[in-house]
Parts: sequence; structure tokens; C-alpha cells
Amino acid sequence: MEPFVNERAPLPRNMIENSMFEEEPDVVDLAKESPSNPIDSDDAIYEPRNSRLLVRGLGENDLDEDEEDYESSARLLGMSFMNRSSNQRCTSSPYTRQQPSGLCLMPFAKTLVVGVLILVLVASMAMVIFFLPGCTFTRNGCKKNNSTMDNIYPNSTSGDPFPWTDLRLPGGVQPVHYDISLHPNLTTMNFRGNVSIRVQVTEETNKMVLHSSNMNIVKATFQGEEVKILEYKPWQQIAIKFPEDLQKGVYVLNIIYTANLSTSYDGFYNSSYVDTTGAKRVLATTQFEPLAARKAFPCFDEPAFKSTFIIKMIREPKYISLSNMPKAKTADLKNGLLEDEFEKSVVMSTYLVAFVVAEFESVSKNFSKTTVSVYAVPDKNDQIHYALDTAGKLLEFYNTFFAIDYPLSKLDLVAIPDFLAGAMENWGLITFRENMLLVGNNSSPIDKQLVTSVIAHELAHQWFGNLVTMKWWNDLWLNEGFATYMQYTSIETIFPKLDMDTEFLRIRFKAMAKDALNSSHPVSSIVKTPEQVEEMFDSVSYEKGASILLMLNSTLTEEEFRKGVIEYLQAHQFQNTKSEDLWNSLTNVSKQPFSVAHMMNTWTVQKGFPLVTVTRNGTQVTLTQEHFLLNAEIAPTHDSSLWHIPLTYVNDSCSALSSCKQVFHLQDKTATMKLPDQVKWLKFNYRSDGFYIVNYDDKGWEALIEALRNDINVLTHKDRASLINNVFALSRLGKVPFRLVFNLMEYIKNETETAPLTEALIQLNQIFRLLDKRSELHLVSRMRSYILECFRTVMEKQSWQPESSVSKMTLKSTLLEMACSHDFTNCTQEAKRLYDEWAASNGTYQIPSDLMRTVFKVAAQTEEGWGMMLHTYKHSISDPEKHKALEALASTQDVRKILWILQKSLDGSMIPTPEFPFVVNAICKNFAGYLYAWDFIKENWDKITQKFPLGSFAIQSLIMSTTSQFSTTTHLMEAQNFFSSLGDKGSQLRIVQEAIETIKLNKRWIETNLETLQEWL
Ligand SMILES: [Zn+2]
Repeated sequence: MEPFVNERAPLPRNMIENSMFEEEPDVVDLAKESPSNPIDSDDAIYEPRNSRLLVRGLGENDLDEDEEDYESSARLLGMSFMNRSSNQRCTSSPYTRQQPSGLCLMPFAKTLVVGVLILVLVASMAMVIFFLPGCTFTRNGCKKNNSTMDNIYPNSTSGDPFPWTDLRLPGGVQPVHYDISLHPNLTTMNFRGNVSIRVQVTEETNKMVLHSSNMNIVKATFQGEEVKILEYKPWQQIAIKFPEDLQKGVYVLNIIYTANLSTSYDGFYNSSYVDTTGAKRVLATTQFEPLAARKAFPCFDEPAFKSTFIIKMIREPKYISLSNMPKAKTADLKNGLLEDEFEKSVVMSTYLVAFVVAEFESVSKNFSKTTVSVYAVPDKNDQIHYALDTAGKLLEFYNTFFAIDYPLSKLDLVAIPDFLAGAMENWGLITFRENMLLVGNNSSPIDKQLVTSVIAHELAHQWFGNLVTMKWWNDLWLNEGFATYMQYTSIETIFPKLDMDTEFLRIRFKAMAKDALNSSHPVSSIVKTPEQVEEMFDSVSYEKGASILLMLNSTLTEEEFRKGVIEYLQAHQFQNTKSEDLWNSLTNVSKQPFSVAHMMNTWTVQKGFPLVTVTRNGTQVTLTQEHFLLNAEIAPTHDSSLWHIPLTYVNDSCSALSSCKQVFHLQDKTATMKLPDQVKWLKFNYRSDGFYIVNYDDKGWEALIEALRNDINVLTHKDRASLINNVFALSRLGKVPFRLVFNLMEYIKNETETAPLTEALIQLNQIFRLLDKRSELHLVSRMRSYILECFRTVMEKQSWQPESSVSKMTLKSTLLEMACSHDFTNCTQEAKRLYDEWAASNGTYQIPSDLMRTVFKVAAQTEEGWGMMLHTYKHSISDPEKHKALEALASTQDVRKILWILQKSLDGSMIPTPEFPFVVNAICKNFAGYLYAWDFIKENWDKITQKFPLGSFAIQSLIMSTTSQFSTTTHLMEAQNFFSSLGDKGSQLRIVQEAIETIKLNKRWIETNLETLQEWL
């Protein structure tokens, strides 16, 4: 079974930009306040399912249904069937030959003639395709020397042939500088833009192709002469075709356009909220990564097209405007408007451009040579100080660590109401969800850990991502893996009390759980379509990326690793790179006897990770590696993957200190090593720093289990957590019997540390939920008793008071939540008591913030408590409190309330739409709601994909939350039928494969282990 994805709760989260879908809070959009009595009986009604599905980039094309289906299919299949027969829509067909025949016969009049023509067309196209077997459309289009094929282009909106046939832009024309002037109108919610792009033509060409989406182009000039713009909407491209080739040189293209501010959460979009006086406030902000700069201004919207930018913003005096660079000047336009002009930017990618027009307040402070400022809505201006100090300290740390100073003179961090991602690293203007930046009086240590972590991640991007950028999205991990790695290591250095080390261990386990599936992908993967680009923002890019960097760092010396990183940044600053560039820099500085590039390639170009099996005979140790693949299919796969594994190990004579660690490089399928002395036991993967799982022979496991029973401190707490993680994973793979899991778990009663305890709890909880969702009532109750037995000792030690250590607080919060959910040891009574005290105190008594979630969830189970939670959710200006109230609302067992909250969060009325994936995840944890949530997702799929891009983390989260606990044939078939009914508009997603695979694995696991559970529990 493999129900890992959203099952990591109730632990506090992983702090990647996307993590908020799992557990993190957000601000409510009070502008969309609902009626005071939320549940009218008619309210909770499904929208009927609509057969039409919007695909990203096709939404605004006003195509009819058939045409839209066709268009997206064509887009997804590349240009290989461009021969849409002209009988469908003669003159408006998007794909025709460059010189159409002009025939447009009426079918009912000349059916026979048309039929013959169709046959001829089909036959001729079949021949064309037959004779062009190797024609692929590369950056420069089809390279075949076949003039017939060369002339086939899609039709632009105006009907003229569009002169380009690839999703990627052609090379040969490079933007050098953009002058962008924007005038957003926050009353009419549209904007006017004027962009002037200076381009360098490096190869003679008769066309220029760039991106643009949903814009009304008013006028375009090239070198001052008016030119015709051709647009091909499905690919969000525009082009100019020149009568003659442009010679090499510099040219200027100018485009004046208008557009609506986006109503989704990307591009230049509008957002609103209600302040504490009840007044509605509006603002406009941006989110461009990965593909939405083209929605704000026409541009060469690929990360390798770096350029400089000068931004001008026209605004009303009551607003401020912000952009990447400091403001250079403000002009009074004498019409009641002001125009801010920002300094010329450094050379950067389009996805990092940003601007905000809002009524915000700020605090500022100088750190090194940079003015750091934090902005928020005025009502929350007392919650911005923590972020200011934290960002300043981290900035100084990175300046030193990377040995390159942050190159801008200012750095703004802005809390945006209504923000879909967790945060976005725009250069010099980082935008955040409010709860990921603001820290108030009742924010807990865990809340601070989250904020610190997100700031550390985004600041690391100012070097990894902004200064040096991946060439294309296939190497997104260079941005995200590195920023994730740095977020943990920088905080561990500067804020050791936040205990990020335990959190980093947890995400390594999480990444392995995903990467063990057949549906996983290599860290560096081929991507082309917008959906594939969106799908790269996943656990593999972030968490596996960070994990393999940690493994490398612990294999090299600290100094070697840092030197290599510095060399990489210095060599490639303001440029673009591939994975090899990083490995080459590290190889150059490394004094190790192996090639870093060779070793790391085995981790980035193949998916998955190795299982290392250790068998020992005296001092002779045999090591074997194989792909740790949870295969849902019965037929075995032939897998020849091999990794260069820097295997680490300790033994009974020296096991806890890092000086005990020894290393063996396993590069072949099998190797043997000779120990210098006899040992009682060996533990491989010291502190779980390596990205692999280890199995031992029977004696090896027995010795380790025996050692732990006698003294838990023979191993570090990370090693203990990794043994627990590995034994559950191995039983899932079928490599060890489940009774070995029970054997190891016997020691857990003596465990005191957060990492092993929470790992054990997560693993057992997954099994509990599977049984619960299958209504295996007898086993559910026995499993509950088993969990209680395992954790009774440590649970009984927990008070309802805050702890000073984040790690201890995390443990307490996890244990109490578990205790209350299973109604152990009077947990619910105590939670109710705290809640009553809080409710009666009228704001004077504060529940310890990290226990608030548990208390609120207990309270929300009554009618009165649920109403109170709703009131808290609507009126609190503390984001952590709001979010815990929302989770409590979603934990209700009342079906009508469940449906109401699903509907309110999807349509964004009262609960902002960005919270929808979080709400669904919270509902799916409970037996009462998960099937309703699944039905709701199916019924509303069209609406959902209009709000969240296909392939995005939101979609990934929704699919896994609703399906990852299925384990029956009926549910498997239901999921398969639903996903296949989506056709090209969803069934091709990697996350769909993952979901189906997960259900199959769950089913198989249950079938294999039900008997053992009955026997052992
Ligand atoms: Zn990031």
C-alpha cells in the first residue's frame, strides 16, 4: 500500500511553496462574505457535471466544444495530425495548408464529391505521414527536407497561417531589454499596457515569435512601422512575419494592448479583502511562474530568454506600487494619477518579473547593503516584524555562504491576501501567502518555524533560480531542490532552536514514498506541454532534489561542497544552466577519488532509488542493490537501474557519533567488503542522510532489534526513525514479513524522541485509515488499541501546556491530536474544557497555539461549537487561528456541513478558493466525508480545472487526497472509469497514474496482510 501523499498529517508540514495544500493556513477573503446562516437546506447541492473541460491555454478561445476537444488533442499530440479535414469548418480550420484550396462545399448538396475529397485528403496525408517517419518538431520546427511538410502551419486567429509549429520559441531572436508601462484600473479591473522590446537577431529570419495570452493588441510597430500581429491562441503565441529576412542586429518591437486583470491566481490578477472597518479593499498583484508573464505583457516567456526590464506603473495616489527594483522616480500625470518608474533591472527571466499595486504598510531596515522591507495590509502591520528580522539574518547568512552579495539594493517581502502558491521568489519582490509571512502575538513556535522556513527558501532562490536559472523547466530541481536544501541547512545554522533537522528527515521519507512508485520520474525529466511544466512542481523536484544534495554534502566535505556551489554560482551568474553544470563545478573542486558528476547523474537521470540488501557472514559483508520499486502490476519488471551509492554505516562498537561513520561506495549490482573486526550488528545509512532503503538478513534485523530493546541510545534518533521507516517500506514491498514490523515496534514504548515516534505514528495511522475506510470494524478497533499501547507511556506524559522546544511541541501536538481523534485518555474532555474556557473568556484566554487545532477539532463536532468555529474563521485576523478553525470546520461528521464547506471553498464565497485543496484534504481524513469529497471532485471536475491549472500542485493534491485511501476493486474501477473519461484532458496526468497505482498497491497490501493483522493485533 502506498497512501503517502496527503497522509503525512497531522505533523506540521513541509514548507515548500506548495505545501499549504496539505495543512497550512490562509486568510479568508472577507470580501466574499456569505449569509450569516451558512447552511440553508438548498445550499449543499452539486453542480451538474458538464461534459466540457477547460484545458489551460484554451479557455478563452471561444471554440465550440468539438473544436476545443480537437484543439487540445492536437496540442497534446504535437503537430503530428495537422490535417484536420476541411469539411469540418472550411475557412476557420486552425490547421490547413498554407495555400488552401478554397473549396468549401455544402455537404448535403455534394456529399459524394466531399466524400471522395475527404478520402483523397486522408490518403494523401497518410502518405505524407508515412514518408515522414522521423519528422519531429524541434525548436526550429520540422527539419525534414520535404517542402510539402514545411508549408503546413496552423491558422492564426485572423485566418492567416501562423509561421511557427512548436510550443518552444525559435532561437535566433533574443530579447535584450523590455520597457513596460502599465496602467491597471482597480475599479474596472482591466489594464492597459505598452511594451517595447529591444531584440537582438542572431540568425537571419523572416519571423519573430513570442508569447502573449488573453490580450487585445491595439497596435504593434516594428522599428516604428506598423506591423500585423498573428496570434495562435492554443499555444499562447504571437508572431510577425516579415516579407524579407531580418539581418543580424538590434531591433525594437512595440506593442500597445489592453487586457482584463486575471480572475485566476496567475498573470496580473486582482485580489480583494474586507478590512476591519468592513470596507472592501482591492489590489492587483502578479504570479508569473511558470508560464504566466505572457498574461501581463507580450514576452519571450521561457527562462533562458533573460533580459533587463524597466517597469512603469500608473496608479491612483491612494495606492502604492512595488516592483522588482527600487523606485527611481514618480511623475504627476496631472489627471489625478501618478506614474512610478522603477530602476532598470538586472538581467533576469520573465517568470521572475513582478509588480503589486495595493494599499499596504511596511517596515524597513538595512542589512548589509540592502534595505529589507516587509509589507502587509494595514490591519496586520503589527505582524510584520518577525519576518523583517528573520529575512535580514538570512540575507546576511546567504551573502556570506554563497560569497556573492545579493545584487539589488532592496528586498521586499509582501503578504498578499488571496494567493494560490505559498510564496514566490520574484527577484527583489517576494510575495507570500499571509500566513507564510506574518507572525502575531498568538503565533506558536511551529507557526514561526513555517514562516522562517518559507523565507529561507525564497531567499535562497535569489541565488539559486534568480541569479543562476535553469535553462528549461526539465531542470526545475536546480531551483527547487537547492532552495529546499538551503532552507533546512540555513535555518539549522542560524536558528537551531527551530529544529529543522527533524523536519528535513521527514520530507526525505516523504520523497522516498513518492519516488518508490512506478509513476515517479527522474529528477531531471523531459517536459514540453504546459501541463508537464506544472507537474514538475512536485515532491521529486523539491524534496528528492534537496535529499540528494544532502547525500552529496555528507559524502564530500562541507568545504568542498560549499566551494563547488560558489564556483557554480560565480561561473554562471546571470546565465542559465543544466544539471551537468552544477556537477561539473563540484567535480572541479572535489578531491574525492570519484567523479561527482558520474555519481550524481545516477541520481538525476533515472527515476526511483535503490534498495540495498546487506547479508553478513562474520566479517564478510555482501551488498546488493536493486531498484526499490513498488510494482502494482503482477508481472515483474526488468529493471537494470544502478546507482553510485555512497553507503554509510556504523556498528555496535561505535554508532552514535558522526566520527563513527564509515563509507563504502557501491557502484555495481553486488559488492563485498571485509570488516576489520567482528561486530554484533551493522546499521547502514547513518542518520538516514542517503536516499536509499536498507534491508538486512534475518540475523541482521534480529541483532538491531535486540540492541534497541536493550538501549535505544545505541543509535541516533534519526537512525531509529529510519529503521522504522525502512521496515514499513520493506513490508510494503514484500521483502520482509509484517511480523518483523511488529517485532521492531516493540521497542517504541521506550522511545522518547520526536522523529521516530512521529514516523511510527504516521506509518500506523496509514494502516489504520485504510482499515477504517474499508470498514474492517473488528480490525479497526484492534488497531486502535495497538496504537494506544505503543504510545500510551509517552502520551500520558503530555500536558496541555506549551513546550519551549519546537521538536517537543511538534510531538505533543501530534500525540494529543491522535489521542483526541481516537478518544484516548480523556483527551476530548480536556480539549472541551480548554475550548469552553477560551469561548467564555472573550479573547482574554489563549489556547496554546500549537494545541489549538486539536481543541478546535473537538469543539467543531457539536452544532454550537461548529457555529463558533465559523464565527472565529470569519472574524479572526490571526491567520494561524483562522486556519485551525477552517480545519476544524472541515473535520465535522455532519454531511450537510461537509457539502456546504466543499461548495463554499470551491466557489470562493466566504472561503477563498486557494483553500479548496486543503479543505478536501482535511475532509478526506475522516470516514464521514471522504466519499462525499470524491463525488464532489468528480461532479465538479470542470469547474476545478478552470480554477487550478491541469497538472498543478493543487490538482495533484486533490486527486491524491480523495483516492489514496481506496483499496477495493470497486473503488479501483470507479477511479479508472472516471479518469479515463477525462480523455486527453486529465487522464494523461502523471498524478492520475500515481493515484491508480496507489489504489492497486493498497488493494494488494490489504489482500496480503489482512491475515497477519488478524493474527497479530
Ligand atoms: Zn521554491
